[in-house]
Amino acid sequence: MVKKTSSDGDSRRTSHSRGPARPTARPSRPNASNNKPAISAGRTHSGNGSKSRSNGRKFPIMPTESKITPLERIASGSNSVYTVSRDTLRIIPLGGLEEVGANMMAYEFGNDIIIVDAGFAFPDETTPGIDYIIPETKYLEDKKDNIRGLFVTHGHMDHIGAIPYLLAKLGDPPIYTLQLSAGMIKKRLEEFNLAERAKINVVQRDDMVPLGNFQIRFFAVNHNIPDSVGLSIKTPIGQVIHTGDWKFDHTPVNEVQTEFHKIASFGGEGVLALMSDSTNAIKPGYSQSEKEIGRTMDRIFQDAKGRIVFTSFSSLIARIQQVFDLSAKYNRKVIVTGRSIVNTLETAISMGYIKIQPKIIIKSEQASKYPDNQILILSTGGQGEESSQLARMSRGEHRFVKIKKDDTVVISASSIPGNERSIVTVIDNLTRLGANVIYNKVLDIHTGGHGQQEELKLMIQLVKPKFFVPIHGELHMLAAHAKLAQSIGLPEENCFLLENGSILEINQRGEAKQLNEKVPSGYVFVDGLGIGDVGEVVIRDRQAMAQDGMFVIITTVDRHTGKLINPPEILSRGFVYMKNNDELIREVKHEIRKIVEGNGNKTGEPNWADLRQKVRDDIGEYLFQKTQRRPMILPVVIEV
Ligand SMILES: [Zn+2]
Repeated sequence: MVKKTSSDGDSRRTSHSRGPARPTARPSRPNASNNKPAISAGRTHSGNGSKSRSNGRKFPIMPTESKITPLERIASGSNSVYTVSRDTLRIIPLGGLEEVGANMMAYEFGNDIIIVDAGFAFPDETTPGIDYIIPETKYLEDKKDNIRGLFVTHGHMDHIGAIPYLLAKLGDPPIYTLQLSAGMIKKRLEEFNLAERAKINVVQRDDMVPLGNFQIRFFAVNHNIPDSVGLSIKTPIGQVIHTGDWKFDHTPVNEVQTEFHKIASFGGEGVLALMSDSTNAIKPGYSQSEKEIGRTMDRIFQDAKGRIVFTSFSSLIARIQQVFDLSAKYNRKVIVTGRSIVNTLETAISMGYIKIQPKIIIKSEQASKYPDNQILILSTGGQGEESSQLARMSRGEHRFVKIKKDDTVVISASSIPGNERSIVTVIDNLTRLGANVIYNKVLDIHTGGHGQQEELKLMIQLVKPKFFVPIHGELHMLAAHAKLAQSIGLPEENCFLLENGSILEINQRGEAKQLNEKVPSGYVFVDGLGIGDVGEVVIRDRQAMAQDGMFVIITTVDRHTGKLINPPEILSRGFVYMKNNDELIREVKHEIRKIVEGNGNKTGEPNWADLRQKVRDDIGEYLFQKTQRRPMILPVVIEV
């Protein structure tokens, strides 16, 4: 860990004698003394980034050197990724560029860092037992005194989910976001008893937030949650546009329209780099409007004979609003099941983002008072998650919903890659129970919240960036997005395919280059209460046990002679059924005996570490020859 030589903003007021005097003022950290954000409402910015003023106050501050001492720099190697040259903008993705989810991006200029989003990703079959995956933030932790703020583009978990795990590690930076996103973050933090701790600043779309070398403005985009915004990030060397998740939807439900005029006017100011969402970069054409989906859903409500069970992502507020509107129209009461959807509803209804008819929500116990065709069950589980309400219904294990003939189950969510198999299992089980299951492939009941190829091209045309960095997605999506940019005239060398941990530097001459080094990157696993304590080794063990089970060998050995005192004992789980494999177990015990006694004879004084290793290797090989399986072998040697 890099030790800091100074820990607060005050050191930044010291003027340094080296370096040329900059004729411009640098905005202070806004009202650092009283923690109130300096947000200039509705102010439009004029002039170039270096002429900024913060809230009318200005300090003639010289840019300070990096806070790493020379000694530390030498210790960490002269090419350390921690050394930043002045007047250079660094763009460092920490998550979301090799996967869908865990989005997090850092922008660094001089001694100032701002972060955009801090989300988690869902685990897949390669990470058994893991709850969430969050970005590795060591680089930022080592520079946490420089972090001026965390900007959140919208309230989806892949953009806010990691905040409770990272807040303290990053020195509790103030959070800036729009109202609903602020509500979602607060709700998430409440689950960790951290709501009081966080400094959340609610901004308006027309605000400008000056933080150190940065000035941040906002523009509305459509997604499928209200208050989604993209960011204009002004730096002393030019402007960066960061889109967040977005699509262009001319008839959104429950959301304002995309602020095309702002995007175009930011583009007119000149844009150094565009970071744009690549989730749907492989899909041609345009995304479907939320309103179109409304029509399809209306038809489903018309046709449904019995109950409707509706599942979606809990944070698709627009879709949930449509469900309530249609339930009112077709005279259905709504029962809500699943913690995440209850949380979303509480936040969104209390803040006015979902409007529901009085008394439309009923308790599950009241359901029996209504005929089936007047009931709608709003549930979690659009991804087939094993513990979700829908999955429980499909297994007949739900607390109060027993699926029956004439139920219509609507799964209104496209599958996150990796979840397809579990969704199919849920669909099949529901079908077996007699439900009519309607999902994406049957009817268009989910539109992704992400722009498709023609929209992505339009965004690039409006912004007209010099450099282009596709973000949000796996490598093939990013590459497809870069190809799109090139198809409309961006030079290939101006498109950067970055990875998590990559460093893209743009200097004051407007030259961009990707450094050879990377900042520490990778995945941090969250499992229960542990954050980052489960690593590669544990995951590999879990995979091994999941594949071929485990095989425990207990030997009691005389400390002096190395002879076995009792016959070896064997325990096994998930490998073979022991009772049907007497023969194999007997042979294994015989092998163990040979190994143990051989060990004692050869060396005189038994070497216990060697013995354990030899048992593991030799018995592993023996079992593989006999069974073609490789269980995890755990030798236990008891010396008496
Ligand atoms: Zn999103």
